[in-house]
Amino acid sequence: MSQRVLPASAPITWHSLSASDALANVKSVEAGLSQEEAARRLQEVGPNVIQRAKGDSALKLLFRQINDPLIYVLLASAALAVAMGEAIDGAVVLAVVVLNTAIGFVQELRASKAIEALSGMVPQSATVVRGGARSAIPAADVVPGDVVVLEAGDKVPADARLLSVKNLAVDESALTGESVPSDKHTQPVAEDSGVGDRKNLVFGGTLVTRGTATAVVVATGGATELGRISSMLHEATEIETPLTRSMAKVGRVLTIAIVAVALLIVGIALLRGYPPVDAMLAGISLAVAAIPEGLPAIITISLAIGVQRMARRRAVIRKLPAVETLGSTAVICSDKTGTLTRNEMTVRALWTPATPTTPATSATPDSGGAAGEALEVTGVGYAPEGEVRRDGAPVGELPEAARALLRAGLLCNDARMTREGDTRGIEGDPTEGALVVAAQKLGVDVEETRRAYPRLDAVPFSSERQMMATLHEAPGGERVIFMKGAPEAVLGATTIGEAERAEVMAQVERMAAQGMRVLAAASRPFSDVAGAASLDEAHLTEGFALLGLEGMIDPPRPEAIDAIKACHEAGITVKMITGDHLATARAIGEQLGLVQGGARAMNGTELSRLSDEELRGAAAGTHVFARVAPEHKLRLVKALQADGKVVAMTGDGVNDAPALKQADIGVAMGITGTAVSKESADVVLTDDNFASIRAAVEEGRRVYDNLVKALAFVLPTNLGEALILLVAVMIFPIAGGVPLMPITAVQILWVNLVATVALSLPLAFEAMEKDVMSRPPRDPREPILSRFVLVRTAIVALLMTAGAIGVFLYEYFTEVRGGVVSDVAYREAQTAAVTTVVLFQIFYVINCRSLRDSLLTIGLFSNPWIYVGIGGLLALQLCFVYVPFMHTLFGSAPLPLDAWVKSTLVAMSILPVMSVERWWRLRRARRSAEGERQDAAPGVGGVAGAMPSGGGA
Ligand code: ATP
Repeated sequence: MSQRVLPASAPITWHSLSASDALANVKSVEAGLSQEEAARRLQEVGPNVIQRAKGDSALKLLFRQINDPLIYVLLASAALAVAMGEAIDGAVVLAVVVLNTAIGFVQELRASKAIEALSGMVPQSATVVRGGARSAIPAADVVPGDVVVLEAGDKVPADARLLSVKNLAVDESALTGESVPSDKHTQPVAEDSGVGDRKNLVFGGTLVTRGTATAVVVATGGATELGRISSMLHEATEIETPLTRSMAKVGRVLTIAIVAVALLIVGIALLRGYPPVDAMLAGISLAVAAIPEGLPAIITISLAIGVQRMARRRAVIRKLPAVETLGSTAVICSDKTGTLTRNEMTVRALWTPATPTTPATSATPDSGGAAGEALEVTGVGYAPEGEVRRDGAPVGELPEAARALLRAGLLCNDARMTREGDTRGIEGDPTEGALVVAAQKLGVDVEETRRAYPRLDAVPFSSERQMMATLHEAPGGERVIFMKGAPEAVLGATTIGEAERAEVMAQVERMAAQGMRVLAAASRPFSDVAGAASLDEAHLTEGFALLGLEGMIDPPRPEAIDAIKACHEAGITVKMITGDHLATARAIGEQLGLVQGGARAMNGTELSRLSDEELRGAAAGTHVFARVAPEHKLRLVKALQADGKVVAMTGDGVNDAPALKQADIGVAMGITGTAVSKESADVVLTDDNFASIRAAVEEGRRVYDNLVKALAFVLPTNLGEALILLVAVMIFPIAGGVPLMPITAVQILWVNLVATVALSLPLAFEAMEKDVMSRPPRDPREPILSRFVLVRTAIVALLMTAGAIGVFLYEYFTEVRGGVVSDVAYREAQTAAVTTVVLFQIFYVINCRSLRDSLLTIGLFSNPWIYVGIGGLLALQLCFVYVPFMHTLFGSAPLPLDAWVKSTLVAMSILPVMSVERWWRLRRARRSAEGERQDAAPGVGGVAGAMPSGGGA
C-alpha cells in the first residue's frame, strides 16, 4: 500500500489519515524511533511538558488578603482617624494594614509556589517502543514519532494516532468535559470531526480506563490539544481547607462582635463624658486590639510547612485539606503487595497434579500426602542458583510435569529479566518476574522457550478476572492457549472433577498458610475453537488441562511492621486489603503484626454477600480482607466512614479510583500506581511504602498541634488588649477633659502585628510533641476553638490585663506632681504598659511551645526560630522605646532601667500560672483517660490522655 505523505506546510488532520499514513507523516515505523533519532527530536521540539498559564493567580491572592472583613474594619478605622484630624494614627493604621497584607501575600505566594511544585514530584512515565524494544521513560521525554504502548490506568503522554487497539476506552473529561469514557478504534474518521469524535486519536492528559493500544505520537507538549487550551487549566492550588474555611467563618462572626463591642465602648465613653473624638478613638482602638491580624498568615504557613515536611518524608500532598485530615486519621486500609510487603516475589514451591488431564507426565503419584507432587524450590530473589527438592532431598532431573508448569508460567507472561552489570532485575510485574526467574533457575531456557513458542495474542491480566491467557504457536505448528492466575479463577476452566478440585484447593491452602501467593497454570489446544483467529474471553471458560501450582513468597517490609506498631500505639487501626487468597493474607497479616492469634479475616465474596448494615458491624472488627475486588473497597470505605471514622485508603489500579475519591484520604502509589489512581488521590507516596503513610499522619498531627499552639498564643493577646481598653474606658478617670488611656490605638497595632507575628510564626516550626503518636486520633468534629484554647485565652488575657494596667497605674501615679502628670511621664507610663504586654508575650510563647511537656522535656533549643523571633522582637521593642522617630509615630517615650525590671517581673508571673494550668489540665486528662481505658480496645496501647491537640482542657 502506498503511503500518502502530506506537504510539511499544511496542518495535518491526523484523524483523517490511515494509521500507516500517520506513521509515514511523522516519519516513524511500527517498531518505533531509534534512540538516537528520539534524542535528536527531543533536542528539536523540546520536552513534552505543558507550561501552565500562571494567569491572575498572584493578583487573586493579593485580593484575597485584602478582601477580609477585618481588614475593612481597619481601613474604616484609619479613614475615621484621618477624618478626625488624627493623621498620624490614620497613617500608622494604614501602614500596618499594608505591611500585614504584604507579609500575608508574600507568605501565601511562597506557600502556593511550594504546593504547585509538588505536582512535579509525582513521577509521570510512559511506555514507548524504541528500536523495537519496549521501555519506560519519563513522559517529558516523549517525542513526535514515538510509538507508545497504552494500557488501562495509564495517562496518555501526548497526542497520538492509534495503530492498534484492544477494547480501548479513554476518559477524555480533562479535554472535552465528557465523563463517559470514549471507545476508540483505528479507522480514519471524517476530516471535520470534532475533538470528541476523533475516535482514532488519543490525547495527552486523558486517562485510559480500559483495554490496551499502541499509538504513534503526533504532537507533544504545547502542541497537544490540552497544551493549546492550557490557559484554561486550573490545577487545584487553592490554599483553602476545612480549617481555613471555618476560621474564616469565625472571623466573620468575630468582626460583627468586635464592631458591636466597639460601638458599645463609644457609647460608654460618651456617657462618661469623653470628648467625641476620644470616644471614637477608643472605639477604633478596641477594633484594632481585638482583631487577630496575623492569624490567616500563620495558618497558611503552618499548612505549607506541613506539606513540605510530608513531601520530604515521601508523601506528596495533592489536595491541601489532606494535611489537616491526616492528623485525625483513625483507620488506614492498605493494599498488601508492595506497600506492606516488598513486592519481591520468589517462587518457593511447585505442585503438579498426579493425574493430569493432559497426556503423559512422569510425576510420581504420591508425595507429601497429596495425590500430586509437591516440590520445594531453594534460592531467593533473582540469584541464578536454585534447585528443586522433594521432601528435603534434591531432585536430580526436573520432572516433565514441573517443566511443563514452568514453561506455561514463562510463556503466559509479560515480564523480562534484566541485567545491568552484576545486578539482576525484572522489568514488569514482580509476580510474573518470579515465574520467569523460577523457570530460568530450574533449567528452562527463557529465551529459547519464548522463541520456540511465539505469542500470537493475549488477554491481559486484570484484578477482576484474576488471570491472564496467551495464545502461542507450538513447535509442531499447532496452537495452544496458556492460562495462569488465581486457582479459583483457573480451576473453573479446567476439566478436573469435584474430588480432584478439592484436593488441589487443599494443596493451595497448604501453600497459602505459609504466606505464599499461589498461581495455577493450565493449557488447552486452540484448534478446537472453530473459526476463531484471535483470543477472547469466550475461549477461556472451559476445556483446560491443569498443569499445576506455583507458590511464591513476598516478605513483609520490616519498616511496615514498625509502622503498624506505631499506628496501633497512636490508636489507628490498620486493615490490610489484598487480591490474594484468604490463607495467604492471614499468614502475612500475622507476620505483619496486624492480627494476633485468631485473626479475623474476610473474603471479598463474603463481603459482597453482607448488607451495608451488616458490613458496618463486620468491617470494624476485621483486619484482613482477601480476594478483594475494587468495588469491595468502595463499600468498605463507606462502611468504615459510617461509624464517623476518618478513613485513609490506598489504591494503585484504575478501578481503585472511586474508593480513593470516597476515602477521606485517598493514597496512591507513586511508583507502581496508575495515573488514574494518582489523579484521584489526595496523597501520593513516592516510595509506595506503608511507613510513609505513618509519617504523613504524624506530620498531620504536628501541623494541627502547631495551629492550636498559634491560636492559644495569639488569641489571649487580642482579648487582653481589648480588656485593657474596656477597663480604661469604664473606670479610668477623665482628667481635665482628657481621658486616661493605658495604651493607644497605634500602640495596640504595634503589639498585634510586630510582637504577635514575630512570636507566633516560629511556632509553626515547633518540633513534634513527644506523645504525638501515642494518643488517640483527634475527633474530626472537635472545634479548633476548643475548650483548651478558650480557657487559655481567658486566663492569659486576664493576667495580661491586670499586669499591664497595674504597671501603667503604678508608673502614672508615682509621677503625679501637684495633682498633675507631665506629658512625658504619661507617655512613659504607656510605654511601660506596652513593654509589659510584649514581655508577657515573650514569656508566654515559650510556654506555648509544647501543649503537654515542660520546656526542659522538649529541649530548650529544639526550635531555634523561637529565639530568632524573641531576639528580633526585643530589638524592635528597644527601637520602640528609644528611637525618636518611633516616639513621633507611636507616642512612646524612653524608659529608665528600673521600669524594664518592673515590667519583666510582672510579665514573669505568667510562668507559675501556666505551670498550674498545665498540671491541672493534664490531671483532668489523665482522669478521663482512666475512665476511657476500661472500654478501649486491647492492643490499642497508650491512650495517653483525652487532651489530643488541645482537646479537652
Ligand atoms: P494487593 O491487593 O495485595 O496489592 P494485588 O493487587 O497485587 O495484591 P492482584 O494483582 O489483584 O492483587 O492479584 C490477585 C490474584 O491474581 C493473585 O493472588 C494471583 O493469584 C493472581 N495474579 C496476580 N498477578 C497475576 C498475573 N500477572 N497473572 C496472573 N495472575 C495473577
